[in-house]
Amino acid sequence: MNMFSDIALEIGVKPLLPEAGSEEEAFLKYCKDLVTSLIVNGYKHGKPMSLQVGLVDSSDCNAWAVSADDVDYIGIHVGLISTLRNLSRALISQRYILPHVGHPEAVTPIQFAFDAATISNESSSIGTIQLEDPEREGLAAYLTNIAAAFIVYHEFQHIFNGHTDWLETQGRLALIAELKVPKHDQYVGVTRQTLERDADVGALQLTLVRVLQPIIHWVDGIAVWDVAGRSPMGPPQDLVELVCVGSQLINLMYAKLDDFDSEGVFEADHPHPVVRTLLNVTAVCGILSFRTGQSYDDLVTTTMRSFERSLDAWADTFPSTGHLNVDAIADPDVVNALDGIVDAYATEWSRIQPELDKLKRGGKLAPRNYADNPAFFATS
Ligand SMILES: [Zn+2]
Repeated sequence: MNMFSDIALEIGVKPLLPEAGSEEEAFLKYCKDLVTSLIVNGYKHGKPMSLQVGLVDSSDCNAWAVSADDVDYIGIHVGLISTLRNLSRALISQRYILPHVGHPEAVTPIQFAFDAATISNESSSIGTIQLEDPEREGLAAYLTNIAAAFIVYHEFQHIFNGHTDWLETQGRLALIAELKVPKHDQYVGVTRQTLERDADVGALQLTLVRVLQPIIHWVDGIAVWDVAGRSPMGPPQDLVELVCVGSQLINLMYAKLDDFDSEGVFEADHPHPVVRTLLNVTAVCGILSFRTGQSYDDLVTTTMRSFERSLDAWADTFPSTGHLNVDAIADPDVVNALDGIVDAYATEWSRIQPELDKLKRGGKLAPRNYADNPAFFATS
């Protein structure tokens, strides 16, 4: 009996068993490989944790994480393969993201007439696209991989950091779904958003490690990264830009300002996409500063600038739909609301952290305060 299939059907989504040799099978193998090395450090009820990753066909839900008895499950929507690939190719076809890689002038910019949020339903109108320049095409493929890794890591964090188990202690299903799943109510509110924030920060850290391939040293039990020139895929600053874009591909699909409402900001399952964008770019800088000792302010300056170039790529890819642009992320409504939102997450986090820490599958929860790594701030 395939337990993953049973769980998927119970949630109300259709499990999908990929055919041998298909691209779905290759994608599933990639997703499984991402977590294989991580679960060896995880335990539940004193036994090694057991995690099944599977594909489902469910356009309502991009991904989900479930804990049941002694086994955990991650489900990924099969349509993400084409969504992530089409988005990556379109963004790289514009000339803003890493313009020094390959020959961007040889690539025809791709524009879509529909809204980014509907791209998964538009696959028939998109057809097969491929960028004319092999290096830009390779860059798009790498961006697709980063985006997929972030999604799998995000679901993994919901399990590993104890979120799903904790929900069960609260009388809820041990289920976290990105977007809705047919058979269950959406779980919204500041607590849910705080869990999403934790999953994002943990997933960003795992994605940065995968992409930057740092040499890791340990100082006082805390990991310190040597990132300089470690990855054959490019210099760290380029790779950080790709992580900022790739880790938010799905989030940025929905990132428009017109539905931002500072009053009702917690009446959703995830942080508002514009807020999430800003929080995640600054989280990348926080993680890098903490792990490498680089100045946080310098990182914010360079990373925001490179991230803004990627927003230009989004705006040019979806020219008719008022996609999030550089001016919009400085919108006074968002900026004014941001401090209150961050404070609400911090307050909620200090309430639930001790309980989550007991349910975490291994190690300790990552620090919320990235300011004082003993490797770089000597105590006297
Ligand atoms: Zn989530």
